[in-house]
Amino acid sequence: MAGSAGDLVRLVAKGHGRSRAELARMSGMAPSSVSLRVEELIDAGLLREDGEGASRGGRRPRQLRLHENAGVVVAVDVGTHHVRMAVLDLGGRVLLERELPGDIAEGPERVSERLVEHLRMTLRQASVEQLPLLGVGIGMPGPVDPGAAKVVAPSRMPGWNEYPIGRRMSELLGVRVVVENDANLMAVGEHRYGWPDRDNLMAVKAGTGIGCGIIASGKLHRGRGAAGDISHVPVHVPEPVTCSCGHSDCLVE
Ligand SMILES: [Zn+2]
Repeated sequence: MAGSAGDLVRLVAKGHGRSRAELARMSGMAPSSVSLRVEELIDAGLLREDGEGASRGGRRPRQLRLHENAGVVVAVDVGTHHVRMAVLDLGGRVLLERELPGDIAEGPERVSERLVEHLRMTLRQASVEQLPLLGVGIGMPGPVDPGAAKVVAPSRMPGWNEYPIGRRMSELLGVRVVVENDANLMAVGEHRYGWPDRDNLMAVKAGTGIGCGIIASGKLHRGRGAAGDISHVPVHVPEPVTCSCGHSDCLVE
């Protein structure tokens, strides 16, 4: 593992690096380099330290934590007919959650503008305007290329194919925006918080379509981008109906 400041923050956030010694062991960095980076991160207000580390005799190691009040992030779940938003502190605590109206069929440009309006309103309602917004994560109800933060070949989202929602939202908000398929996010959440000791699981999301996120060998499995899109599994039907994907024997049209 490389030893960037971001890697160290990630190890602390996941609970793998609670002390400088653990961080040095997990990152493979020299203890002196870890100490230097940690001091920088504390000075920058991203990490803090309390005195409750497990003692192994001698001086109690101080325990590193993310500084909850260093900023907030917003999680956005875009549905076909609704939007859910949550404001979280850096400790992962949900400060405010809102369900808002939305219609994916309004097209990407209008939906992006509305998301930004909703997001600013939600931040005001959460009374966190004094804290910096550090990033936004968006779940989309269709296949996503997470590297390009684009929706790719969705079947029920007219106008969205190849739309760079991540870049557009980032331009409008001035912060980093990451994008992923909603069922994949569900699977990652279930794996991390519900079943952390299982290597393989599937999370099925039954909404307007049926999606499914797959964790295989402990990692999210994306396939060619649409792994787990159960809606378009071909089934034998007596009266074929043409699906929005172009086939006539899909489980859900
Ligand atoms: Zn289909």
